[in-house]
Amino acid sequence: MTARVLVVDDIPANVKLLETHLLAEYFDVLTAENGLSALEICDKTQVDLILLDIMMPGIDGFEVCRRLKANPKTTHIPVVMVTALDQPEDRVEGLKCGADDFLTKPVNNMQLMARVKSLLRLKMLTDELRVRAGNNLVIDDVDEKPLNKSGIDEKGMTLLVDGRVNSQDRITRAISGIADVDIISDAETALFHAGENPYELIIINDNLPGVDPLRICSQLRSREITRFVPILVILQTGDEPKVVRALDIGVNDYILQPLDPNELYARSLTQIKRSRFSEKLRESLNKSVELAVVDPLTGLNNRHFLDAYMGKLIARAKRRNTPISMLITDIDKFKNVNDTHGHDAGDEILREFARRLRASVRGADLACRFGGEEFVVLMPDTTAEMAAQIAERLRAAIETSAFNLPGDTGQLELTTSVGVTNYDPEQDSSETLIKRADDALYKAKSDGRNRVVLQTVA
Ligand code: GH3
Ligand code: MG
Ligand code: MG
Repeated sequence: MTARVLVVDDIPANVKLLETHLLAEYFDVLTAENGLSALEICDKTQVDLILLDIMMPGIDGFEVCRRLKANPKTTHIPVVMVTALDQPEDRVEGLKCGADDFLTKPVNNMQLMARVKSLLRLKMLTDELRVRAGNNLVIDDVDEKPLNKSGIDEKGMTLLVDGRVNSQDRITRAISGIADVDIISDAETALFHAGENPYELIIINDNLPGVDPLRICSQLRSREITRFVPILVILQTGDEPKVVRALDIGVNDYILQPLDPNELYARSLTQIKRSRFSEKLRESLNKSVELAVVDPLTGLNNRHFLDAYMGKLIARAKRRNTPISMLITDIDKFKNVNDTHGHDAGDEILREFARRLRASVRGADLACRFGGEEFVVLMPDTTAEMAAQIAERLRAAIETSAFNLPGDTGQLELTTSVGVTNYDPEQDSSETLIKRADDALYKAKSDGRNRVVLQTVA
């Protein structure tokens, strides 16, 4: 993971220490020795994460964080407050200013890396979502819902695996503002529940009698359904080897006893956001893939998809020596529909036409909207004669029952013309196949419309 980290501290030795750790992991490091120059750097350059000291001359870390979070340009940059161990109230103040996480001085390298990586993963997701939103791609709801101060619109579905009632209470209370918590106190039931519910965070406390929490983690990770659910483990201070192993098996973050509710809150929120943003990203990817291949008006595949897929179907037919045929249909005198009844009526009729077309062909056939009121169906394992029958069925389906105009404003009788041809493995390409089907369609039009013309190859 390469990313640019800004280290802000007025004491050069502190800056140096963090810088050294980060450079060793190949991060790009920028430094600032006071709040104002930190703000200036964030304004001028792209920063992916900030490690921010609190006590500094001039404006302090809290104020820097407040200003960063208040500025739309910098609000997405994760801020880790570096706090003194003996100042727990700093964390409360930090959360109020919008800090994303905390580190305690002197900074432990393993904790530093865990925090930095966890927040950077989240940032990469939000960046990606913002790019898409900026490009007007698909993601339409990212900024729509009013977000509360936590930055999430609904509480995260959370599973807490914890063996003791008093710590269950404490944890639930700490995150009640951002999480709906189900509590389970044994490993087997926890695994079962995790598989059955779409949790956005699983917190596992290392206090289940006779159970290694990392066993639960690794089982969650190895199962398809829970593979991507963020896991936060609560471990004993001093058990560093376990922390290392936890991160190794894919636990997303950890927190050490004694539990600081503010830390728990901040880290839970980061993980919930992460799981929610990845979900959004996945949805948007699916949606853009769909948009690229589906005609939004009729729901049929679009021409782009036909172009991409036709070659494969033809090559397969050629390889297997099976027939494949094509029909092209164009609604007769469709321009009149628009002229007389309006464009919306035209659209509605195109939708109904597409429904009838889909009903006339098999699932294995590739039905596409080829252009305005022109449709193509590519039919694998279909001879020219069979294709002509299918075309005739479609023609009849259009002629036989009138189309309803929108808003019960009457009905309209329509007809369609169809050109049919079959693929010739000796001489055809996608282009020549389409061309011949189109010629047949042209003949159907010039012969008087509302008819099927078959043009076979020898
Ligand atoms: P022909 O029998 O020769 O095919 O006559 P036609 O009127 O159907 O042919 P022409 O190609 O002249 O007109 C096609 C019309 O289809 C023109 C255009 O306004 C309309 N059309 C194309 N795409 C859409 C669309 O998405 N929605 C609507 N409502 N109309 C469309
Ligand atoms: Mg037409
Ligand atoms: Mg036309």
